Amino acid sequence: MRARPPAAPPLPLASLTLRTTGRALLRYARGQLPRIVCGGLLGLAGTAAMLAQPLAAKELIDGLGDRRPVTGALTALSVLVVLGAVLRALGQYVLARAAESVVRGARHGITGRLLRLRITELDRLEPGDLLSRVSSDTTLLRQVTTQSLVSAVTSTLALTGVTVTMGLLDPVLLGVTAGVIALTCAVLAVTMPRIARATARAQAAVGEMGAVLERALGALRTVKASGAEDRETAAVHRSADEAWRSGVRAAGWQALMGTSAGLSVQLSFLCVLSVGGARVASGTVEVSVLVAFLMLLFYLTQPVSELIQATTQFHVGAAAVARLREIDLLETDTAPEAPPESRDVSTGGRAGPPATVTFEKVSFRYRPELPDVHRAVDFTAPGGRMTALVGPSGAGKSTVFALLERFYEPTSGRVLIDGRDVRDLPLADLRAGIGYIEQDAPVLSGTLRENLLFAAPDATEDEIGEVLVRTRLDAFARALPQGLDTPVGHRGTRLSGGERQRVAIARALLRRPRLLLLDEATSQLDAANERALRDVVVDVARETTVVVIAHRLSTVTMADRIVVMESGRVRATGTHEELLAGDALYRALAAGQLLVP
Ligand code: ATP
Repeated sequence: MRARPPAAPPLPLASLTLRTTGRALLRYARGQLPRIVCGGLLGLAGTAAMLAQPLAAKELIDGLGDRRPVTGALTALSVLVVLGAVLRALGQYVLARAAESVVRGARHGITGRLLRLRITELDRLEPGDLLSRVSSDTTLLRQVTTQSLVSAVTSTLALTGVTVTMGLLDPVLLGVTAGVIALTCAVLAVTMPRIARATARAQAAVGEMGAVLERALGALRTVKASGAEDRETAAVHRSADEAWRSGVRAAGWQALMGTSAGLSVQLSFLCVLSVGGARVASGTVEVSVLVAFLMLLFYLTQPVSELIQATTQFHVGAAAVARLREIDLLETDTAPEAPPESRDVSTGGRAGPPATVTFEKVSFRYRPELPDVHRAVDFTAPGGRMTALVGPSGAGKSTVFALLERFYEPTSGRVLIDGRDVRDLPLADLRAGIGYIEQDAPVLSGTLRENLLFAAPDATEDEIGEVLVRTRLDAFARALPQGLDTPVGHRGTRLSGGERQRVAIARALLRRPRLLLLDEATSQLDAANERALRDVVVDVARETTVVVIAHRLSTVTMADRIVVMESGRVRATGTHEELLAGDALYRALAAGQLLVP
């Protein structure tokens, strides 16, 4: 059984400056810019139509008073009301659509990377946390990349316009206003980073909650059997509470910020009134200038609050972008190559002749700080034969398969298939030629057919039928209520251990591999299942190379060659008889029927 590696430190939050965050956010929004501009313009036109309504209303009232025909004014007012509403609704729809597209784009990008992550990266990540990044963090981009972007631009334009007009009216009063607004900016400068930190913490807590929940739901039977429901629930609640605390903290800072913005405008109003009043009294400015200035100050309220909201959104988005950026920084497998023609099963031919596997002085460790798991491992598994790997638990047998699939790279030495270093083969070609059955024979949620076709989606009904017969699953499949279209449950829980294993073998065989890697289950299968499994393996070994990590004497005795591993080294190689005669460890393992814990 593969031991869980020591927990690695969580991902460091990708440190982003204001500029890089802005650039990253814009990158997400880039594809939608025309829509965002269009939505913004529609909104502006709608507002303009709304602002024109009082003029039309005035015209209507004046007309009624003067007993003039009012049909024109009435029509204009009605058109403006409907047009304003329609334009603004349309603007909102276009912006919302752009927002959804931004989220979709981010989700496509991140999931495209996640499924190509190197196994080394996955070893140190929590799947639940990754899930929350895809589902929850991406939604935070919705507002910031669309509505807030538009608000930021329009409110900045409005602010500039109002400020320039104020400056033209009276630079001294503008100075007074600017002084008060500078005070607000100072408050903003203090609160913004705190909002960003609290949001980042809340999102991290949501990620932790996902991770804990995924761990518990992934092993719910064990959780129940261990009576750990309450403890696991408490752990989920702890993360939920932390998310709540951080969310409330962020809300507090946001409230403070909103209030200080409102206060600052009111304060400027008072200051302008006092200073302006004194200037009017001294005859420096006209009363009309003061009135106009105060009106402008009144107009300032909306753009200021919009700008503040946009800035808050920016910081919330920044927290999400940092978490999404971390995924961008993780290593992925090389880009997928075009599917090799040799894999085309429709030709009826397999992906090539049986492969020969050679390990040449391979040393390997999972991480630099961990000890060597392989130390100069040297052996050959000849093509078209069956080779069994045996040895105590932790000897490094499953690691042999992981290196063959190139989930990891050796620290030194070479892994060869037909004399070619696996590092020189295109990854897709390498994996296309290998059928890999993991020890716990994973079966995915879905129907039996979906599971069988997982590695070879183009396989025909005849090929499926043939493989079912070979894996002794034909009668079983026929007896299922919906045949091949029967759902097998989450992780195949509706199948027995032996059935799961044979489904996994059938799936691997449909790929027509040149090399079959079978990590035999350590759990006891009943006699019928064990016999069925053995017959399948013998059958497959007639036409392809099989390397099996063997835990049963019955499997080993069928092998053409046996490699005995111990503590990351190959200790002996030979046939069953040779090893019985010449290797003490093998003799001991065989005497215990090879099953090692
Ligand atoms: P078993 O028969 O119990 O399955 P094995 O011989 O297949 O054992 P491996 O799974 O190859 O052993 O593991 C060899 C060693 O590498 C073990 O000590 C294990 O703890 C360690 N190991 C396995 N996988 C990882 C990993 N992903 N990260 C770190 N260490 C690992």
